[in-house]
Amino acid sequence: NQEIILKSRPKGKPTNSDFEINKIDEPQLKEGEVLLETQYISVDPYLRGRMRDEKSYIEAFKLNEPLSSALVVKVLESKNDSFKEGDYLTGMLPWKKRQVSKAKGLRKIDEGEVPLSAYLGILGMTGLTAYFGLTHIGEPKKGETIVVSGAAGAVGSTVGQIAKIKGLKTIGIAGSEEKIEMIKNKFGYDVGINYKSTETMSKAIKEAAPNGVDVYYDNVGGEVSDGVLVNINQFARIINCGAISLYNDTEIPTGPRVEPLLIKNSAKMQGFIVSNYEDEFGEGIKQLATWLKEGKLKFEETIVEGFENTPQAFIDLFDGKNKGKMIVKI
Ligand code: NDP
Repeated sequence: NQEIILKSRPKGKPTNSDFEINKIDEPQLKEGEVLLETQYISVDPYLRGRMRDEKSYIEAFKLNEPLSSALVVKVLESKNDSFKEGDYLTGMLPWKKRQVSKAKGLRKIDEGEVPLSAYLGILGMTGLTAYFGLTHIGEPKKGETIVVSGAAGAVGSTVGQIAKIKGLKTIGIAGSEEKIEMIKNKFGYDVGINYKSTETMSKAIKEAAPNGVDVYYDNVGGEVSDGVLVNINQFARIINCGAISLYNDTEIPTGPRVEPLLIKNSAKMQGFIVSNYEDEFGEGIKQLATWLKEGKLKFEETIVEGFENTPQAFIDLFDGKNKGKMIVKI
C-alpha cells in the first residue's frame, strides 16, 4: 500500500521534491467501516493554497501527512450498513491507494451513462463551480457578452457551454492554439483568444467584444484580467472564481487599480467558494446531468495514469498541460 505526503511547503511553483510517496501498511477493517480502493484522484489548483501554512476557508495540509482531495473509490469490503462491496463512492479522502473509512461524507455514485471520473469534474466540484458562479453571481442574460478566462479547463469549458445555453455570446481565453480549436469546436465558444500569443490583451478583447463585456468569469486573475476589465460595460458582473496565475507568487503583485472602472460602470465584482452553495448541490447536479443527457453539455478530461504520478499531474496544472479536468487514474 502507498500514500503521498506533503514533504515541504512549495516555494513558488511546486516541484516533485515537495511530495513523497511512502509505503504504508495494509489497512485493517473495523466494525462500522468500509475498506476502500482508490480509482481516481482529482488534482485541483486550489490545493496549492492548502500547501501554504495560512488560515483560509479550508484547513492547510500538514507537513509529513497525506494530502487529500476528491477521490472516486471502490468498496472492497464493508462493515458499514450504508455501503456494500462493489459500490463506487466519492468524497474528500487522503491520497492513499487503500484505506479504511467510516464513510462519513462519502456518497454512492453509479457507473452508467457517464464514466466514474466525471463525478470529479462535470458532475462534481468543477461542474458545480461553473454552474453556481455563473448563474448566481454572473446573472447571465440572453444577448449579453461573456468573457471566460481559463476557458479550456474544467470550470471554464463548462461555463462557456452554460452561457451558450443561456443565450450569450461567449469569448474564451486559453493558452494554446490547440485549446482555442477545442473551445470553439467542442464547447461552442464564439471567439477564442490565445493569451500566450496575444500582445495586448485589452485590444484583443475589444476586437472580440465590440459591444463590451457584460459578464467576466475569471479563473486566472493577473494580467489577463487587467485586459478584460478595461472593456466592461455598465452593470457588468465580474465573478472571481480563481486566480491561478497568482497562486505561486510569493508576494502579492500590484496591478492596475480597478476601483474607478468598477465605480464608473456600476459593476459588481464578487468572489465565492463553491461550498457557499452546498445546500443547492443536489439541484445543481440534477441540472448538469440533465444537460449532459440532452447533449447540451460536453466535457473533456485529461487522464494521467498511475498513483505515483499524482504530484506531477498537480504540478502540470500550472503549465496548462490539461485540457478539461485533470484526473489521475490508479
Ligand atoms: P483548470 O482545469 O482550468 O486547470 C488550470 C488551467 O489554468 C491550466 O490548464 C492553464 O490553462 C491555466 N493556467 C495555468 N497557469 C496560468 C497562468 N499563469 N495564467 C493563465 N492561465 C493559467 O482548473 P479548474 O477548472 O479546476 O480551476 C479553474 C480555476 O477555478 C482555478 O483558478 C481554481 O482555483 C478555481 N476554482 C475555484 C473554485 C471556487 O470555489 N471558487 C472551485 C474550483 C476551482 P492555459 O493553458 O489556458 O494556460
